[in-house]
Amino acid sequence: MRNYSPRKRILVTGGAGFLGSHLIDRLLARGDEVVCADNLFTGAKRNIEHLHSHPRFEFIRHDVTFPLYIEVDQIYNLACPASPIHYQHDPVQTTKTSVHGAINLLGLAKRLKATIFQASTSEVYGDPAVHPQTEAYWGNVNPIGLRSCYDEGKRCAETLFFDYHRQHGLDIRVARIFNTYGPRMHPNDGRVVSNFIVQALKGDDITLYGDGQQTRSFCYVDDMIEGFLRFMDLPKGANGAPGFPGPINLGNPGEFTICQLAEKVIELTASKSKIVYHPLPTDDPMQRQPNIDLARKYLGGWEPEVQLVEGLLHTIKYFEKLFTRES
Ligand code: NAD
Ligand code: UDP
Ligand code: UDP
Repeated sequence: MRNYSPRKRILVTGGAGFLGSHLIDRLLARGDEVVCADNLFTGAKRNIEHLHSHPRFEFIRHDVTFPLYIEVDQIYNLACPASPIHYQHDPVQTTKTSVHGAINLLGLAKRLKATIFQASTSEVYGDPAVHPQTEAYWGNVNPIGLRSCYDEGKRCAETLFFDYHRQHGLDIRVARIFNTYGPRMHPNDGRVVSNFIVQALKGDDITLYGDGQQTRSFCYVDDMIEGFLRFMDLPKGANGAPGFPGPINLGNPGEFTICQLAEKVIELTASKSKIVYHPLPTDDPMQRQPNIDLARKYLGGWEPEVQLVEGLLHTIKYFEKLFTRES
């Protein structure tokens, strides 16, 4: 049965993960009902434990590669391991999660005539030959490399979203997310911000891959979630026609070398850790920076507000608390 109360019932797949759990907090805070579907592969119960007895929150342990029959008004599809270590752990399952997961959730959205959001990624641009990346760029992706299970899985998911949109008139929102960081990142997921902070707090060596001159643009989680909500809630077109489908880049255009990030984390944690150099992983993109003109235009002047130092300080505080709790 659909929801007859004025509030929306919203499905968040991957809701026990880093981004998903922050999204759920925002949805509950504004009064929605939330169903979180997650197989807890990289997510953690601790990310949603504060919601355990929340009257408008429900958790179901579910793998999105299997069909899901429930009744909701909107769907956010975030289920997919996001860090290279995790998505390369079982690459076949990663592609299945992106592709079979997209088919099942698009099938669900089609039956329910629900708007559906896809957490796509800057990885669709691969190691980009165009800089900064605009949505018009088709990308430079190795189809058979170690990162392909993720990159090509997400590219195929985008294809499916746009084919359901064209073929079935489905109302879709495809966001290409650039590197995002903040509290609730998995301490062992190997992503650069969490790795450096954990290493710095423990006094371990800071592992810099390559010469550290590759760049990334880091967006704080709160800014990212604000972008998700504004995009999803864009009004439909005339006579209920689908609204703006994207794809749209979401990220913070501030660009830093990985070396600069390492130095900043050491400074902010007052750590005695030393930087050590390791080989650059294969197909590691040399540069990445979003062009966010489209997001600024469509999302009511949306703009990342949290600067890197402020965001790092929030994240450092989170990991300090986590380690105190675990010790
Ligand atoms: P995360 O690993 O913390 O969260 C992913 C969640 O999906 C986890 O809770 C995991 O258990 C769940 N999951 C994985 N496979 C599943 C399956 N088969 N069925 C059900 N649940 C499954 O990662 P995140 O950083 O929160 O990323 C969320 C989404 O955003 C992902 O789709 C990711 O590709 C995308 N994204 C994230 C970033 C980033 O910088 N954080 C950048 C680009 C795209
Ligand atoms: N599906 C689902 N929940 C639903 C409706 C569909 O999980 O409420 C899945 C189902 O497994 C199906 C897939 O979504 O295979 C695609 O559905 P669609 O209707 O597009 O295609 P079809 O059922 O014709 O294969
Ligand atoms: N990186 C690093 N040391 C680490 C983890 C990552 O130098 O301990 C580098 C990695 O090689 C890449 C960048 O930091 O160039 C961002 O890596 P991450 O895995 O966070 O994200 P992605 O490569 O998917 O953007």
